[in-house]
Amino acid sequence: MAHPLRPSTEAILDALPDLAPFARDAVVLRPERGEPNPGDSSIGGPLLWPSDEPWPMCSLPDEVNPVGLPATAMVPVVQIFKREVPGPWWPADADLLQILWCPNEHWDPPAQQADVSPVVELRWRRAADVDSRLVAPPSPSRHAEDGYLPEPCTVTGEALTDFPFREELPPELRPALEELVDKTGDGGDVITRVVGWKLGGWPTWHLTHPMVFHCRTCHTGMTLLFTVASDAETGVIVGRWGDLRIFACPVDHRHPFQVDLH
Ligand SMILES: [Zn+2]
Ligand SMILES: [Zn+2]
Repeated sequence: MAHPLRPSTEAILDALPDLAPFARDAVVLRPERGEPNPGDSSIGGPLLWPSDEPWPMCSLPDEVNPVGLPATAMVPVVQIFKREVPGPWWPADADLLQILWCPNEHWDPPAQQADVSPVVELRWRRAADVDSRLVAPPSPSRHAEDGYLPEPCTVTGEALTDFPFREELPPELRPALEELVDKTGDGGDVITRVVGWKLGGWPTWHLTHPMVFHCRTCHTGMTLLFTVASDAETGVIVGRWGDLRIFACPVDHRHPFQVDLH
């Protein structure tokens, strides 16, 4: 359950039919500490990584090492197989999404990365292309916060329909949405602030006004691809117990992604 008090999609749309055009598929990943295998979807688990592909390293200055050298190894954040979370996110030629990051705080990273955060790497691949797996990837030589080293967790995907934060809606729809939000849940917003690790869906904007990131290659408005949440199960803490979000270009997954912290 996304939230025990969250109304069903049907109930939300019955109450507010004008929300229908804004509905987006999402999958919330429920983590549970364990020993995931390289063939499993996981958080902080071993990746199905080709032995002939260099492991991502980071040589950006960070708060532990202001020079950034020698480069330090990135760590697995999440690995997702399409068979477990089918949906509109998958490029035609990919069935495996892998996200890694450098577990340090970077004060002035390249513009596509979030400030004061880990630096993110992302791979789309076909699992069948990995015929020889890298068995012993390098470990980071430095890291700032334990909150950037996810505990190995298996994940269970839970599909839901996500709706945008009120400020992303046309003004005439906002009062009715606010009324619906106030009437449901336990005081929080269980309709447009789905908590947790999430593939797809909408970003929340409860701290700042909504922003649209535009693809650096084709200028299309980017959509939310993945949300890394702060939680006790994975031990991940980003920002002030916030979310790290990865936005992607809906036109071409090979265009650069954009990261923000909320
Ligand atoms: Zn780094
Ligand atoms: Zn693009």
